[in-house]
Amino acid sequence: MTALQPTEIAKFWIQGKVVITNLSQSFYYMSCPGCNKGAQKNYNERFLCLCGYESTATPRARIYGQINDDTGSVSVIMFGHEAEQVLGCYATKIIEYSEEEKNKHIENVINELTTKYWILQIYADQEKMKTQRYKNFNVYSIEEAKQEEVANSSS
Ligand SMILES: [Zn+2]
Repeated sequence: MTALQPTEIAKFWIQGKVVITNLSQSFYYMSCPGCNKGAQKNYNERFLCLCGYESTATPRARIYGQINDDTGSVSVIMFGHEAEQVLGCYATKIIEYSEEEKNKHIENVINELTTKYWILQIYADQEKMKTQRYKNFNVYSIEEAKQEEVANSSS
């Protein structure tokens, strides 16, 4: 563990189920692997990113969802590795799927999510929260909860 920095964003631990209700989302966006910012490019297209990186457009997993627990729910957005854990596959796989295959995969994921508990660390992105349309917490880390941990917390 590193020491807290003054600028460090406060993170919160929560536990609950991941719920995905928006099925029209793409579950990835095309990004620069150097800075993770979105890029209006085709898969594998080479471009010079504003971050200075000689970039190759790469799909990055992204899920808009909710975390539900006994007390309520929060809207979250998760990216990259965290989103891929929930999707059970890499973003590169999602992009290779046909529309039909993708829908089927997502349907399976959503079914499995109904029985899974997760332990997450979330935080508010202050800059983005200032814009009113953005009401999601960002997921910093996510891990599937073991059954005994779920049992302990609910007693
Ligand atoms: Zn970049």
